[in-house]
Amino acid sequence: MQIGFIGLGNMGGPMAINLAKAGHSVKAFDLSQEAIAKVVAAGGQAAGSAQDAAQGAEVIVTMLPASQHVEGLFLGRDGQNGLLASIAKGALVIDSSTIAAATSQKVAQAAQAAGIAFIDAPVSGGTGGAIAGTLTFMVGGSEADLERARPLLEKMGKNIFHAGAVGAGQTAKICNNMLLGILMAGTSEAIALGVANGLDPKVLSEIMRRSSGGNWALEVYNPYPGVQEASAATRGYTGGFGTDLMLKDLGLAQEHATAVKASTPLGGLARALYAAHSLGGHGGEDFSSIIKMLQKQG
Ligand code: NAD
Repeated sequence: MQIGFIGLGNMGGPMAINLAKAGHSVKAFDLSQEAIAKVVAAGGQAAGSAQDAAQGAEVIVTMLPASQHVEGLFLGRDGQNGLLASIAKGALVIDSSTIAAATSQKVAQAAQAAGIAFIDAPVSGGTGGAIAGTLTFMVGGSEADLERARPLLEKMGKNIFHAGAVGAGQTAKICNNMLLGILMAGTSEAIALGVANGLDPKVLSEIMRRSSGGNWALEVYNPYPGVQEASAATRGYTGGFGTDLMLKDLGLAQEHATAVKASTPLGGLARALYAAHSLGGHGGEDFSSIIKMLQKQG
């Protein structure tokens, strides 16, 4: 199958590579030439532009940072000259970026008017899951479009959920990431407290992992450097899930809450914490660096 893949960052790069390794023809585009080169080295083809990647593709996958990138790409910055005009009628768009549900719905509507199928399929599982092909997909769209996408999603992930109509995948993802933001801040707070009281972070982490405080951060994403070899913390908080991306997701969660008058006090507090952390100059670091806010300095 011919696939156009746009957005080859920490997540999109390994996802595109898994599709190429599965034998698909993947034409890959990113604003970064270095990101394209990594996919080409793993069997993909370089595209000179997003239009070039989409040309003749049966499926277009996008993995971009935020709503404005997805809307700008497909609809054009001025509402014209977007990528939809370059996509063949009957093709399927799979957008795996985490963005506002309303943006997914807006792009899906324009796609439908152009005879193009669209699903939102945001993911969970981190860069480790993207590399291993074990992501969880949360899909919004019709059953039929999900079944078309399924063989490709199975090459990139191991859990595929149908959350509902277009936009529902995004809503599920935002609920999940609000919880993750809270859990990472809480886990960091607990480890920092233990260490300040003389505990070894490895020992404390293992005790909590196997006790009632156990959670995903303690399992695979420990925020304390050196506790887990493969964690972003041990790599100097690089190459994972950026603080500013978490801040974006917590903002989206608050927008969802405002829309239905939901009470999300911990989500709101988590957003404020990550915003202060970003302002402190840590926006580009992995989100687990939130522990720096809670550690005794010096
Ligand atoms: P990233 O910043 O590493 O990658 C984004 C890529 O998009 C960059 O390489 C950038 O050059 C490219 N890009 C931006 N605008 C473009 C355009 N117009 N055309 C082509 N390329 C463009 O981000 P990431 O960590 O890969 O995250 C991507 C999305 O996945 C985000 O919505 C994020 O919230 C979500 N997500 C990330 C993780 C994670 O652990 N990193 C996990 C789940 C979901």
